Amino acid sequence: MKRILLLQTGGTISMQFEKDGVFLDPARWSQVLYQQMPELTQIADISIENVFFEDSSDINPLHWSTLAERIYRRLKEFDGFVVLHGTDTMAYTASALSFALNPLNKPVIFTGSQVPMSNIRSDARRNLVNAVELATHPIHEVAICFNDHLFRGNRSTKMSIGDFNAFESPNFPPLAEIGIHINFSPDVMENDSLTPTCNANFDDAIHVIKIHPAMNTRALECMDISTFKAVIIEAFGIGNMPIKGPYNMLPFIKKCRDRNCYVIITSQAAYDAINLEHYSSGRAVKELGGLSAGEMTMEAAITKTMHLLGLNLEETKFNSQFLTNLAGERSDTETHSN
Ligand code: ASP
Repeated sequence: MKRILLLQTGGTISMQFEKDGVFLDPARWSQVLYQQMPELTQIADISIENVFFEDSSDINPLHWSTLAERIYRRLKEFDGFVVLHGTDTMAYTASALSFALNPLNKPVIFTGSQVPMSNIRSDARRNLVNAVELATHPIHEVAICFNDHLFRGNRSTKMSIGDFNAFESPNFPPLAEIGIHINFSPDVMENDSLTPTCNANFDDAIHVIKIHPAMNTRALECMDISTFKAVIIEAFGIGNMPIKGPYNMLPFIKKCRDRNCYVIITSQAAYDAINLEHYSSGRAVKELGGLSAGEMTMEAAITKTMHLLGLNLEETKFNSQFLTNLAGERSDTETHSN
């Protein structure tokens, strides 16, 4: 039987309904989980460890490092890992781990639920059973198992607050679809011959700016850019933003670049990729040294930026690494001329 390590980090799956809402209750959760165990042990030989116990909105890069290092230390002992995690930031943690544990030669399958497992009509049991089953297969990457689908972690994003179908990977087909049989995609990574590594330093000196019509550029002018090493701009469509009159974003971008702060362009549209060559504003941003996040999710762009900053790379190396597909997060490798 395959040996699976089930790592608990909290989230709705482990919460308890009270009359005012849902709450983390570690004691009650242990009882509920142990009730599921006899059935799970038909699939695998399972060990359980608590890493932390948080609503995932409180999870930060220190939690990512703790989790990545825990998995790395236990890689030889187990055939696969299942991480129970809140849905709100699951795609961030999964993306962060995909960069920290790269390459990886074991499955690391994240799951959680929209309704606590302690509720009768919960999606938790199905997600957990599927995740444990998937962790016994040769899936050598970080993935999210939710609602009968397996998605690449750094391609996933939370799309729904109220539907069991909470996750999608807009620019990448699911790694597996789970019905009577499990249908795997040929894209699933298999790295048997690669030696796994762990690099779990994340630098949080970043800031995210979402462009909107009539954005107040005066507020941006007052920003102390010296506290950031990278600004991630969530632009319109293919990578556009205002470049005229009082809303012109270019002076702010120039100021960032003059202070050696990276400027990364992502899109508010979930599908398809940034192209900074297509329109005037994209070309102007690229000319100033803006970097395209291509088809990366916001979660992947943020965690990849923190990961690369954590490596203390010199600028040309940072640029080329950001534009390169490192862990399946983007399929295009772009070049940068600045
Ligand atoms: N707030 C919860 C969390 O992310 C939501 C969930 O798990 O669905 O921890």
